[in-house]
Amino acid sequence: MRVLRTAGETSALPPCVLVPTMGFLHAGHAELIRLGVGHASDLPGGCVVSIFVNPSQFNDPRDYASYPRDLDRDLASCERAGAAAVFVPDEHEVYPPSSPPRWPAVPSVGHLPRLEEVGRPGHFEGVCRVLARLFEMVPCVRAVFGEKDYQQLRLAHALVTQENLAVEIVSAPTVREDDGLAMSSRNVRLSPEGRTRARAISLALRRAQGARTPAHAERIMLDTLWEAGISRIEYATIRRQDDLMPLDERDAETVPARALITAYVDGTRLLDNAPWRPHLAQP
Ligand code: AMP
Repeated sequence: MRVLRTAGETSALPPCVLVPTMGFLHAGHAELIRLGVGHASDLPGGCVVSIFVNPSQFNDPRDYASYPRDLDRDLASCERAGAAAVFVPDEHEVYPPSSPPRWPAVPSVGHLPRLEEVGRPGHFEGVCRVLARLFEMVPCVRAVFGEKDYQQLRLAHALVTQENLAVEIVSAPTVREDDGLAMSSRNVRLSPEGRTRARAISLALRRAQGARTPAHAERIMLDTLWEAGISRIEYATIRRQDDLMPLDERDAETVPARALITAYVDGTRLLDNAPWRPHLAQP
């Protein structure tokens, strides 16, 4: 497995699959890499993992500074999962001070739904920048994204369409701990007690499956979080799956939908989501 540091090195790669990450890899990332390896079977460049903690997508400088990092462990995980190369650029490589690139506009799914962009203003500008730049530096024909960051996954789809990029977006299911908590690099910040409370997030998503209407599902999710003592909730909502706009009750049976939650536990911002379908009354 090669470790690459510069755009000069990546530009010489043959066509490949890219798995963009911010490192501190866990079993969810490993699944993404294995999926990437599978999707690279017809490509000489194999699966390339990028590890870059992108400052432009953090609206809180303390969150950026304290983001967990462990490159040696990450390189070992990438090798075990079958990556052909790992790209570890520094900030100047991604954002060269001498030649500021043209940044893409944020597609509407990154700002109209009023989800992530409310609690993290500017976050998706940063995500669009880093993705545009990674797609420019790494000759990937496919890129793998986790459903765990669902709005980001929709944004990646919209970005390649908007920018007319020949990159196919591949989505990967969310990998969870045994008790349902979605794996996240941020979970290491939870206290033992917070770790127990955090289970309520995936529980709320599961309980919402019993609801007949979007409003009922949202009520169930909020009640489940409150019961567990999770009161700092950014959103617990049912949205249309594609554009993440509110789901009209009349459309609930026909339009594919998603339940999405973002809430704080121990001051750590946790995200999760799941497909949602109304539970129809028995005839
Ligand atoms: P991050 O390093 O957190 O920016 O995540 C890099 C990629 O891994 C993104 O596409 C995430 O959606 C994905 N990812 C993070 N956690 C999980 C998980 N638990 N299951 C599947 N994919 C994940």
